[in-house]
Amino acid sequence: MLAFKSEEQSQLQLVEREEIEDEDDLFEAIDKLISHGINAGDVKKLQDAGIYTCNGLMMHTKKSLTGIKGLSEAKVDKICEAAEKIVNYGYITGSDALLRRKAVVRVTTGSLALDELLGGGIETSAITEAFGEFRSGKTQLAHTLCVSTQLPTSMKGGNGKVAYIDTEGTFRPDRIVPIAERFGMDAGAVLDNIIYARAYTYEHQYNLLLGLAAKMSEEPFRLLIVDSVIALFRVDFTGRGELAERQQKLAQMLSRLTKIAEEFNVAVYMTNQVIADPGGGVFISDPKKPAGGHVLAHAATIRLMFRKGKGEQRVCKVFDAPNLPEAEAVFQITPGGIADAKD
Ligand code: ATP
Ligand code: MG
Repeated sequence: MLAFKSEEQSQLQLVEREEIEDEDDLFEAIDKLISHGINAGDVKKLQDAGIYTCNGLMMHTKKSLTGIKGLSEAKVDKICEAAEKIVNYGYITGSDALLRRKAVVRVTTGSLALDELLGGGIETSAITEAFGEFRSGKTQLAHTLCVSTQLPTSMKGGNGKVAYIDTEGTFRPDRIVPIAERFGMDAGAVLDNIIYARAYTYEHQYNLLLGLAAKMSEEPFRLLIVDSVIALFRVDFTGRGELAERQQKLAQMLSRLTKIAEEFNVAVYMTNQVIADPGGGVFISDPKKPAGGHVLAHAATIRLMFRKGKGEQRVCKVFDAPNLPEAEAVFQITPGGIADAKD
C-alpha cells in the first residue's frame, strides 16, 4: 500500500506496515480450527456465515451458530471447544487489557480543532456516529477520513485500508483526488485502497457487512464508513406497524458493526439522519433529533451532532461520549476536505 509520492514517505509507510503485521496476532484465522480436528467443510460453513476469525466466533451465541445450515448442536460444541484452545475467551489481566487499548489508533479528521474535541481523532475499535442537518458536512468528513486513514500513524493516520458502504449514493471518488493531494498522497493509490459498495436495501447493506469480514481478515483495514446507516431502513419499513421489526433488524446490523469494530480494530464512522422532534418544545425554533431511537443511541460509542455555522463553517458538538466533555469545535469544508476554520 504505497500511497505516498516521495521515497522518504514510502519508507515511513513500510515501517508502519510492520507494526500492523505484528498486530495480526490479535486475531486468529478461523481455518486454524482445521488443525484442531474440525473438518474443512464446517470451517467453510462458518466463513459463509461471515465468521473468519476465532475471535469473531466468540461473538456469536450457540443459538445463532446452530442456526447455520449444516451445523448441528454437537458440531457447534466441538467447534467452540476447539476455538477455546486457540484463543482466550475468558478473563485477561488489566495489563493485557492495556496492551489491547494500545492497539487503538485515532485517525485525524483534517481539522486540529475537531481532533482535539475527539481526544485525537476518530477512534478504532469504536463506532462514531455523526448526525445533523443536510449539508452539515457528514459525508465530507467521510471522504476526508477515506484519505487520512491511509496516512502512517506518525502522521495521525491509521495506516490502513478503507471500506465504504454508501446507502444514499453520495460517494464521489473525484472528491478523493484533491483531498489526497492536500495530504501529499498519490490519488490513484489512495483510491485503490478504498473498497466501495452501493447498497440498495437494508438486506443488501447487512450482506455487505457479512462479506467484509473475509476481506478484513486478509488485509489491514482501519476504517469502515456507512453513509448513512438508517436511510434504507426508513425506506424499507414505512408502515407504522413495522416499527418494531425495523428496530429489531437495525439492532442486528448495529451489533454486526460493533463486532467488526472490535474484532478487526477498525474505526466505524456512520452517519445518521435527523427527524423533527415534536417534543422538542415551543422555544426551540427547529427542534431535531437523531433517527433510530434508543437502538441507535446505544450502539454508537461516540455521538456527534453537526450543524451549519457562518458561510462554509460547520460546528460539531459532542452529543454523547463515555470519556469526552460535552464541548464544541468549529471546522470548515474546503476543496481539500475537512480543515480548521479560518477566522
Ligand atoms: P446530507 O444530510 O444531505 O447527506 P451532509 O451532512 O452529508 O448532508 P455534506 O455532503 O458532507 O453534507 O456537505 C455538503 C457541503 O459540503 C456543501 O455545503 C458544500 O458546499 C460543501 N462542499 C462539497 N464539496 C466541496 C468542495 N469541493 N469544496 C468546498 N466545499 C465543498
Ligand atoms: Mg451526506
